[in-house]
Amino acid sequence: MPPVIDKKRCNSCGICHRICPQDVFGFVAGTPPGIAYPKECWYCGGCVIDCPQGAVSLRLPLPLHIVPSPALYGPPGPGMEDQLKRAAAFSMSIIPEENNEKD
Ligand code: SF4
Ligand code: SF4
Repeated sequence: MPPVIDKKRCNSCGICHRICPQDVFGFVAGTPPGIAYPKECWYCGGCVIDCPQGAVSLRLPLPLHIVPSPALYGPPGPGMEDQLKRAAAFSMSIIPEENNEKD
């Protein structure tokens, strides 16, 4: 499933468009991005983690669920805490695909 953008939160900065390795987003300066190529998303999570507004969420196919854990990766190094918080928020944004049949 493609990413979902909360247009009320989005400030149209274009970061998601610039960082997406699959060119999923269509972007016109000054407006929230659209989803140009939804089937190209490979669920890397970059857009969710890098969005400064927390405006992007992903609904992953169940087999792709990943829960980042300090138990696995160790304590955060300098400058890593914010990144880990975003990663944790990303994992919390995951909703199993079968629970989104009405979307
Ligand atoms: S990174 Fe976030 S705030 Fe910036 S354009 Fe994308 S969705 Fe909007
Ligand atoms: S999850 Fe990765 S591939 Fe998919 S839209 Fe976001 S940045 Fe692009």
